[in-house]
Amino acid sequence: MIGIDLGTTYSAVGVVESGFPILLANEEGRRVIPSAVWFGDGAVEVGEKALRRRGVSPVVTSVKRLMGRRPGEVDDFPLPLDEGDRVRVLGRTPEEVSAEILKELKRIAEWRLETEVRKAVITVPAYFNDAQRSATKRAGELAGLEVARIVNEPTAAALAYGLDKLGEKARVAVYDLGGGTFDLSVLEMRDGVFQVLATRGDTRLGGDDLDAALAGWCAEKAGAGAVDGRMIKEAERVKRALSADGEAVFRVPFVDGGESIEVAATRRDFEHLAAPFIERTIDCCRRAMHDAELSPADLDAVVLVGGSTRIPAVREAVSAFFDREPDLSQHPDEAIALGAAIQAGVLTGAVRKVVLLDVTPLSLGIETFGGLMNVLIPRNTTIPAKAGEMFTNAVAGQRSMSLRVLQGEREMARDNWRLGEFEVAFEPAEKGRARVGVQFRIDENGILEVLARDTATNRDTVLEIRDAAVDVDDEKVETMVSESVEHAFDDMAERVFTEARLKAEELLPAVEAVLSQGDGIVPEEEVAGIREAEATVREALDSGDANRLKAAVESLDKATEAVAARMVERAMEEALERRMGG
Ligand code: ADP
Ligand code: MG
Repeated sequence: MIGIDLGTTYSAVGVVESGFPILLANEEGRRVIPSAVWFGDGAVEVGEKALRRRGVSPVVTSVKRLMGRRPGEVDDFPLPLDEGDRVRVLGRTPEEVSAEILKELKRIAEWRLETEVRKAVITVPAYFNDAQRSATKRAGELAGLEVARIVNEPTAAALAYGLDKLGEKARVAVYDLGGGTFDLSVLEMRDGVFQVLATRGDTRLGGDDLDAALAGWCAEKAGAGAVDGRMIKEAERVKRALSADGEAVFRVPFVDGGESIEVAATRRDFEHLAAPFIERTIDCCRRAMHDAELSPADLDAVVLVGGSTRIPAVREAVSAFFDREPDLSQHPDEAIALGAAIQAGVLTGAVRKVVLLDVTPLSLGIETFGGLMNVLIPRNTTIPAKAGEMFTNAVAGQRSMSLRVLQGEREMARDNWRLGEFEVAFEPAEKGRARVGVQFRIDENGILEVLARDTATNRDTVLEIRDAAVDVDDEKVETMVSESVEHAFDDMAERVFTEARLKAEELLPAVEAVLSQGDGIVPEEEVAGIREAEATVREALDSGDANRLKAAVESLDKATEAVAARMVERAMEEALERRMGG
């Protein structure tokens, strides 16, 4: 079994040999190959060979950014996208293009190992959602690989870091800034158990953004019009140069067939452009530490991986935030593939004494009455995980209910992503009498299965989110989480209001019914108080003020307490009389 780091910009493959994880190099001696694919007439080239075709005919790069995305969800991709029913580039789905990279890695492994390879562990950013994970798994299958496990990239990096420290207890943060994504995970390692305590990230933040920013800045300085592919490529080169040197020259000949561009850039200039992006990564760090309920001093190490962590300003920002020198023991380009190889070794038994406990990056739940998000599995739950809840019918005689499966951190269902929806049929019953048990199950790969059972008939309906998940809503994962923080107060207020409104809508007609009974169950002296409380509830409903409505509903509840008690008493007396009489 092999381990694969299927990166946005670079990919690598590894295996465990005599207890050691190693990467496998291609014929050119490269252990890390560009995630680039070129399609010719029946021919396909991958890696450097594909990049060499650049300029002659289109080469697909960064296809990972398209994985599991819905039409309209991807902005400024380097190649035109065909977005009919599905996103396609050069007429192929993202899975098909990724499969070519995976086939090449499989080929390298088979050539090096001189044996057929059938199974693989593939890594994905911790922040990949269900659709993106499923798409990655499908890409593996298209490449003729059985995907034994999907592992989160930072977790893989931690495995590589921790393999020779299995006896120690340590808490580490893994900071992974690559070409297209950023991930931060906080892990605890103890006796070979790797437990993820928290994870945060941004699936659209990485070196690519820095290239674009630098290219834009150079174009503006040179008075050139639009930024083109060549300028982005040159910006990347200059960016790398500025990691080592204080200054570098940006040079692109014959822009628009006219003059050449030449701009001198200093590391200072670049750091100025990079600052807002770096700040966003530090925001994630802050949140992850908060989720893990740790402060920087509680950590034993901060491990840096990903090509962009070679940027001095990134190292400085990380070291300032965590108040320590970052750990550079891991090769930034190779740690994740090594970790994937270790996980593959764990699955085959070649590596012992290692257990991996990963967590869910986003909450999973279903929509309930009033459009509320009902969380079944909260974010940062260790997987595999299972959780269930009982739901009931809102209307008498109802024969089915539709279940909307959601992923996200917002209080209102509409603000979260809809992963899938299905109808659960059940035996018609009085209001609140039909019972449907809903169970969420997340497997080791982070892929969700939802099961609904009508408890009257024990009939099951199962929804594999696998395919439905491709239909993820057009919001972005990272905006989801940052918005959940931004809107936390409004969201909470809306939830409180909705819950109070549902209660009020139940209470008001019941109170009306009792008051109009006129059989002495409500003594005269209580009527006025109840009427007043009722009016307050109605006013509060109109006001839209959550706290006011909540308080009003509580007072109405109080005002009718005595009546309710009397009603229960009377019902019991009647029941008793019936039994005595019968
Ligand atoms: P991914 O996992 O997304 O494929 P990698 O971890 O391989 O990405 O990192 C690739 C990114 O690292 C690219 O954006 C590349 O420009 C950047 N990078 C590589 N080396 C350097 C360097 N010396 N200085 C700055 N950025 C670098
Ligand atoms: Mg990477």
